Amino acid sequence: MFVSENLSVNEKGNLTIGGVDTINLTKEYGTPLYVMDEELIRRNCRSFKSSIEKFYGGNGLVCYASKAFCCTEMCRVMKDEGIGLDVVSIGELYTAIKAGFDCDKICFHGNNKTDEEIAFAVENKIGHIIVDNIPELERLNTIAKEKGIVAKIMFRIKPGIDAHTHNFIRTGQIDSKFGFALETGEAFEAVKKAISSENIVLRGLHCHIGSQIFDIDPFESAAEVMLGFIAKIKNELGFEVKELNLGGGFGIKYLNSDDPVPYETYMERVSEKVHKMCDELGINLPFIIIEPGRSIAAPAGITLYTVGARKEIPNIRTYISIDGGMCDNPRYILYQSEYEAIVANKASEERSEKVTIAGKCCESGDLIGENMPLQHADSGDIIAVCATGAYNYSMSSNYNRIPKPPVVFVKNGESRVVVKRETLDDIIRNDL
Ligand SMILES: *Cc1c(COP(=O)(O)O)cnc(C)c1O
Repeated sequence: MFVSENLSVNEKGNLTIGGVDTINLTKEYGTPLYVMDEELIRRNCRSFKSSIEKFYGGNGLVCYASKAFCCTEMCRVMKDEGIGLDVVSIGELYTAIKAGFDCDKICFHGNNKTDEEIAFAVENKIGHIIVDNIPELERLNTIAKEKGIVAKIMFRIKPGIDAHTHNFIRTGQIDSKFGFALETGEAFEAVKKAISSENIVLRGLHCHIGSQIFDIDPFESAAEVMLGFIAKIKNELGFEVKELNLGGGFGIKYLNSDDPVPYETYMERVSEKVHKMCDELGINLPFIIIEPGRSIAAPAGITLYTVGARKEIPNIRTYISIDGGMCDNPRYILYQSEYEAIVANKASEERSEKVTIAGKCCESGDLIGENMPLQHADSGDIIAVCATGAYNYSMSSNYNRIPKPPVVFVKNGESRVVVKRETLDDIIRNDL
């Protein structure tokens, strides 16, 4: 009935998350409110981790892509689960370090790292700096030399796999702002340069083919291309690349009609492919890193809003206005992403209407969705938008000077704030 396994309805007819009544949560913390089920976050981590154990002899590491949802407590939870972290900016890196994260388990990405970011990563001995381009490699080598440190790197490679949701084509990917192309020989030149750079050690290669991917085929193809490149490096340069980072991008269930493959199946098939290819190519099995973001965080979260105005425009549509919008969830205005919504205080009733849920920002495009099945919603009702745990809080803004909602974690029937609600004084904090 509900899109995520942790949602249910109690005897009062209220929606529950992780067994906690959402209406009680709104009474305690107000709306809009992000709620995340810590148990489900942890279960998702464990399922990725155990799939590497089961199908790849544990010879790998799960790194949570923190851009999906990052705050100090989330980093602590990841640390506690024994998994690594993928960060893409000095801000995410700083958050991880403040949370006491083990820097050897951090992958630092970004297609245009600043000198400040590079220096910060080098000083903190980040385990994997994912180098995106030659000027960055040169700057990194210089900065590492100045500090007397040897930087551990991977290269971001464009494997030439264009992953769409249901099919994939092997062209076009050369046109991406991320990483080195294989076709042009630029990736091979970068490897040569890294091997001869004094303050650089090349640990491995990385690729990330996209996001919200439902097919396993493009992941297999990416692994195949990357292993072919590793074999070429071995044969032509006599250098063994020991680690292969295959990125993230595993699809999740946003709508009841979505049907993602179990993540175990992904690891099972990719692992089979890697074993077979390594045999054929005569190379050693690499240490594998995967970087799930959305698939760990998204299903664990919901956003709760209070309904304000209801506007019925005859023969056109019904607008249900909420006390949040694109400032806390910009994914509809960015990508027309779709969500399931429920009136949380009428969760056992039929979703008998089709409505447009509208935000409160001054943009006509500020919608959570159109044509959304929903129970009859009136002013004062609470709406839950489901599977908002990823790329919602992390993409939120203060557009219209709207304070950001808090994030509450639920676990064992209890709730606690992990990110406070912004105050009006927070809004003017940096104004002079
Ligand atoms: C965004 C990103 C991820 C995570 O993607 P999801 O779709 O959230 O799983 C992993 N690795 C890199 C390099 C990324 O940019």
